[in-house]
Amino acid sequence: MNTKPFFFDLDMELLKAELKTMGLPEFRAKQLFQAFYVDLVSSIEEVTTLSKEMRQKLSEKMDFNRLKPIDNLLSTDGETAKTLFGLMDGRAIETVLMHYDERQTLCISSQAGCAMGCVFCATGQMGFARNLTSGEIVEQVLYYARELKKRGENVTNVVIMGMGEPFNNYEAVMAAVDLLNDPLALNLGARRITISTVGLVPQILRFAAEKRQINLAISLHAANDELRSSLLPVDRKYPLYELMQACREYIDLTHRRLTFEWALIQDVNDQEKDAYELVKLLKGMICHVNLIQLNPTKKYGGKTPSHERALAFQAILIENGITCTIRLRRGIDIHAGCGQLASYQRKSEKTDMI
Ligand code: SAH
Ligand code: SF4
Repeated sequence: MNTKPFFFDLDMELLKAELKTMGLPEFRAKQLFQAFYVDLVSSIEEVTTLSKEMRQKLSEKMDFNRLKPIDNLLSTDGETAKTLFGLMDGRAIETVLMHYDERQTLCISSQAGCAMGCVFCATGQMGFARNLTSGEIVEQVLYYARELKKRGENVTNVVIMGMGEPFNNYEAVMAAVDLLNDPLALNLGARRITISTVGLVPQILRFAAEKRQINLAISLHAANDELRSSLLPVDRKYPLYELMQACREYIDLTHRRLTFEWALIQDVNDQEKDAYELVKLLKGMICHVNLIQLNPTKKYGGKTPSHERALAFQAILIENGITCTIRLRRGIDIHAGCGQLASYQRKSEKTDMI
């Protein structure tokens, strides 16, 4: 087992403490943050503000890299890239970069696999392997930040919507968010970060009480428990009544607009009656609805509705005063769409990085 500390697991205070135990001066912590998070070096050897001896000592006593890119894919339109990373214990996760006009949005994973078992999700279909550490979450961003820097760009937005249920790995996810947000580290504005949850009520309430400025999205997908529990088993534990109470409390406490995600599945939840049922459920809430046309996965037979159906559904919400957008379908050809992430290694030819 690896017992070395991992640089990306450490905030400034923890790093200082680690340096101290190694007999290195605490002020070196700031130089290391500057090098890895601002200058975006990829190894300790490149940190030339430290002496050769210090670099040597650090490289022996601390890990600076735990994610190995094993496969890179680029969608045919060139706008979406996906990386399969191998972890130190042989598990694997995926990370997706989406390019929209001025934005480079990175979709990161919070767990290897997921225990929530949502029927239409490839990650749910593969089951749960383990939680990621905060450093493994942060390093996904660093990897892409370095890649983008090579072409004069940077990661502008981060969505925690990759593999896993972030609220089942709450501490590590929040520690990662804090590092992304830290002005001395990546300095990514809280409003540029979004967490999506399947609807874990205690964690939504905790998140609300912490009054964090990051955006929150809730995966709803159905406006009655019968349908929702058949798609999302978690609904049996936290039925809609409790979930909506928690959402109202979140809005009351934070005064922030909540996003609800709705994966449209043909003839399952894409009819007029479903849209009206949703309107009724959301009445009086400060919220936004994000529609996702179902992405195909191996073990779910549901069909993707046409764009016309999505537009008709959207129109009903808008007529009833609920803002609603249809999420662009991105990277479907490389299985990089919502719910398509799993840790399969591709057998075909490799492509170069983004
Ligand atoms: N575990 C979190 C975040 C990861 S999933 C959550 O469930 O919210 C990100 C979003 O993709 C969720 O809204 C999820 O319900 C949705 N999703 C999962 N599988 C999908 C699929 N096959 N097609 C479209 N959206 C899907
Ligand atoms: Fe897990 Fe989210 Fe997939 Fe459900 S949709 S199985 S919570 S990753």
